[in-house]
Amino acid sequence: MKNLILTLVCLFAAVTLRAQSAHEFKCATTENLEKQKDADPGLESRMLLYEEQVQQWISENSNKLNKAGTTITIPVVVHIVYKTAAQNISNQRVFDQIDSTNKAFAGQIEHSMGAFSSGLQANCNIQFCLAKKTPDGQATNGIERRQTTVDSFDVGGAVKWDISGGMDPWDPTKYLNIWVCNTYSYFSGYANYPGGGIGQEFGSIVRYGAFGPTDPTYYRGNGGTLTHELGHNLNLRHIWGDDGTSCDGTDYCDDTPNQAGYTRGVPTGVVTDNCSASSPGIMYMNFMDYSDDIVGANYTPDQATRMQANFASSNGVLLSLANSDACSAPSSCEIPTALKVISKSSRGAELGWTAMYGATGYNFRYRKVGASSWTSSTLTSNSKSIGGL
Ligand code: ZN
Ligand code: CA
Repeated sequence: MKNLILTLVCLFAAVTLRAQSAHEFKCATTENLEKQKDADPGLESRMLLYEEQVQQWISENSNKLNKAGTTITIPVVVHIVYKTAAQNISNQRVFDQIDSTNKAFAGQIEHSMGAFSSGLQANCNIQFCLAKKTPDGQATNGIERRQTTVDSFDVGGAVKWDISGGMDPWDPTKYLNIWVCNTYSYFSGYANYPGGGIGQEFGSIVRYGAFGPTDPTYYRGNGGTLTHELGHNLNLRHIWGDDGTSCDGTDYCDDTPNQAGYTRGVPTGVVTDNCSASSPGIMYMNFMDYSDDIVGANYTPDQATRMQANFASSNGVLLSLANSDACSAPSSCEIPTALKVISKSSRGAELGWTAMYGATGYNFRYRKVGASSWTSSTLTSNSKSIGGL
């Protein structure tokens, strides 16, 4: 290997959406919000003010939405903070997660809507891209990693800063930051609401085991946790209104039925409760409920409108994300990284490198040190066996 010089260039193209398919889910967004309020006494009043602005915007604009309008694309960066190898999830799982979430936000998840109209499965006209450009303008696949000594992270900001064993956020006005880590065992993920203003810690946190489509039989095995948390980032509330099991709470959406508490497991058909006692019942398949991923099917048109309100040119707090150029690569092509020897023999070796998001192939070449001619090939996988060394 010491005798070889290698260069790698990847071929760049869009990747098509990939089909994806999924015991107890618990979101700690409310607990995190209480912690934020303790640290920021003005937060609650700012959130209430923003809620008024959102309601006003919706009343003036809802009839213009969810037509085949412009799709908002939000750049995301995934910070993988791991202690064990199992927590260091693969790039492919991240790619599959983003594809799954994009299908969800496009209204393309093929799960039953029960007795509800298919019209309640909205195309939100919101998509997410893994960042192709770092805050410094360098090429990236939108994923960065750090090994930590921290066993697990609670709600709050610890995972969001290098100094506390996590990873610093990228500019939250240009990137939606997502952290994947081992969380305290009582929750699967949490997110910040946008209403109080976009601080450095704005983003979503997902437990590593619930990130990415992994196992359809696993309660969070369909990538639904990130889809749910991003809903909070875009100002959605839990569908039961976070009022325990009473019928007084609201998620501020008229087309989601009033619902007592959250739903568990894999319900089917019509499910009713005290707040929605007759068919079509409660919308247990909504991404803002707690049903298993294999049930999760929709955001409603009103939820979509509520999310889009964050991008209003007048006062949308997330408008800068929609205008960010971080989904565009800095120049021609991202360069694969982490070239390594997977195995070697006396005169051969298998080489591998980091799979790049969006790459359809890799140009690969090598030569003996001092030689002028290269041996070249074009590959579709991110490994290559060479012989005759
Ligand atoms: Zn939640
Ligand atoms: Ca309720």
